[in-house]
Amino acid sequence: MRKKLIVGNWKMNGSLAANAELLAALKAGFDAAQADLALCAPAPYLLQLQAALQGSGIAWGAQDVSAHEGGAYTGEVSAAMLRDCGCRYVIVGHSERRQYHHESDDLVALKAQRALAAGLTPIVCVGETLPDREAGRTEFVVKRQLSAVIHAVGHCCSEIVVAYEPVWAIGTGLSASAAQAQAVHAVLRAQLRAATGQAERNRILYGGSMNAANAAELLRQPDVDGGLIGGASLKAASFLSIAAAGLAVLQTN
Ligand code: PEP
Repeated sequence: MRKKLIVGNWKMNGSLAANAELLAALKAGFDAAQADLALCAPAPYLLQLQAALQGSGIAWGAQDVSAHEGGAYTGEVSAAMLRDCGCRYVIVGHSERRQYHHESDDLVALKAQRALAAGLTPIVCVGETLPDREAGRTEFVVKRQLSAVIHAVGHCCSEIVVAYEPVWAIGTGLSASAAQAQAVHAVLRAQLRAATGQAERNRILYGGSMNAANAAELLRQPDVDGGLIGGASLKAASFLSIAAAGLAVLQTN
């Protein structure tokens, strides 16, 4: 079983003062043996994360990136700029961006391509809505979303992280069951394997109301390589408990 990757998605939360407190608590409590840890913060705070986390073993990243390389795109942030801020990761295709900013599969794929070209690891989010699940379209939807990225990035596919985030589970307190998560993760891994001949390097994270109480069961699934955590990443204690669950799972396997 791979060491788990636990990524916090702060969404549009934080302030310089609140971040400083959270970062100090995370650095004090983080044990690199437990899991790989990363924080995806709003762009204005990336330099704060760089200053606080450099040398700590905790990585950081952004929540979105422009599909353009640079130039006259007011308000956009390029992949090269994120690298300048020391980012290792960038989330692309989060359902909140697909839903509220109408991001298409093709746009998400372009963003993943831009990220890889700049030396960033894209965390590619896929996931079905509740109507999709109820109509039996889960597999179709997540495969379509991932397929766009696979086609765009070609042989670099082994460098991406995938996050399965059922839209109905995000921020609702209603996590997918471990069996539901494992079933979709297995589909995604098979798709990656079919595309590249291997899928062991790819980490596939689960996201959607993961918390200290349900993390161990989700992380115990053979194809769940970690978590993308929203709400529970804003409190050091709950985020660190999820990382600790990652280690407990490794030790019992
Ligand atoms: C997310 O936004 O990626 C997420 C998983 O949120 P939450 O953990 O709050 O459901």
